[in-house]
Amino acid sequence: MKAAVLHEFRPAEESPLTIEDVPTPNPGPGQVLVKVHACGVCRSNLHMIEGEWRRYGIPSKLPIIPGHEIIGEVVELGEGVEGLRKGARVGIQPIWSSCGRCDYCLRGMEHICPEKKLTGEHVDGGYAEYIVADARHVYEVPDNLSPEEAAPLFCPGITAYGAVMKADLRPGMRVGVFGVGGVGHMVIQLALLHGADVVAVSRRENHLRVAERLGAKWLINSSEKDPVEEIRRIGGLDVSIVFAPSSKVAEQAFKSTKLHGTVVIGVHVELGWFPFYEEKRVVGTVVGPRWAMREVVRLASEGKLKVIHEDYPLEKANEVLRKLKHGEVDARAVLIP
Ligand SMILES: [Zn+2]
Ligand SMILES: [Zn+2]
Repeated sequence: MKAAVLHEFRPAEESPLTIEDVPTPNPGPGQVLVKVHACGVCRSNLHMIEGEWRRYGIPSKLPIIPGHEIIGEVVELGEGVEGLRKGARVGIQPIWSSCGRCDYCLRGMEHICPEKKLTGEHVDGGYAEYIVADARHVYEVPDNLSPEEAAPLFCPGITAYGAVMKADLRPGMRVGVFGVGGVGHMVIQLALLHGADVVAVSRRENHLRVAERLGAKWLINSSEKDPVEEIRRIGGLDVSIVFAPSSKVAEQAFKSTKLHGTVVIGVHVELGWFPFYEEKRVVGTVVGPRWAMREVVRLASEGKLKVIHEDYPLEKANEVLRKLKHGEVDARAVLIP
């Protein structure tokens, strides 16, 4: 099969992925073989490919095929797979498998299982014509969603849902969305579904136009204005949600949040000085559990959650990574093998 493979870490400008022929994998017991129809390109793929996540032990093997927001068709069932048929349209998200036995798995929080395996980081991912998936971690996808619009539900979609879930939103609350990319554009929509008002903060005009289109009430270009000052002028935020991978942005979000407010952070940042007497709550968030993944697919299939995407052939994977790195992707880029 054709795949985009990472052999060694290099900057996106140096075309780190090679398009090559590799053996098509075989599904083991409890696994399925999926023919990939579309795979989204995530910023975390870029971090891994450029070697930034070596310090976290990611990827755990080289060479590796990246990609973890995948739509495809089940073409082969491994031994003992039940409840899935050949020909089913399915999605695969970053959580490739979980142990099913630990306290977190038993509490429906398998996305933080210490033994979880990550798609495209511990096992080969979706920048390829085929992928092997754990049958317990695939999700049926209705026909009214195209592969290109459904693929990003499986990382930015579930990630946005997880973040908004932790924010405990109520109608009328004011939510700041810091970073309007793949995840941010879905956070905005989910916050609006809760009846909240959205302040979108981004350094890039193209991202702010996306936020405006989706219904954000205030738009702040942080390369031109100080977002803390601007937000304090309108009375501060009840909740800040941060998906821009920058410690400076996390600090701005914290300072823009009202006393007793909540700051939800879904990226690696350094948190400095912590004024306890402001009684703010800081919560981390990472993807989400399987039941929430189903909710995300349902919302999209009912037309309540839209994915803004641009599509490229798999061969252009390197070009797409460069565009993503330089902020030239409006919301989400999707590769088609
Ligand atoms: Zn992702
Ligand atoms: Zn577990």
